[in-house]
Amino acid sequence: MPSNFHLLPQDAQLIPPVCCCSLCGCELYRDDELYLIEEQVLCPDCLDVFATDYFRHRRFTAAELKDTPQL
Ligand SMILES: [Zn+2]
Repeated sequence: MPSNFHLLPQDAQLIPPVCCCSLCGCELYRDDELYLIEEQVLCPDCLDVFATDYFRHRRFTAAELKDTPQL
């Protein structure tokens, strides 16, 4: 082992990910941002996909909205 071993910069790839995105499976590291929604870990890239699916029952066309008196 070289004597300056402890001075070498730590390779980011040697640090294990903390968790993975539950949708795309990408690895999330300590300083990565994520969303915890209903026990699911989501990376920022997947939030759109998740939200679109999550709120699909709230999705209308403008015409449908206009024709629904209680809204
Ligand atoms: Zn993801």
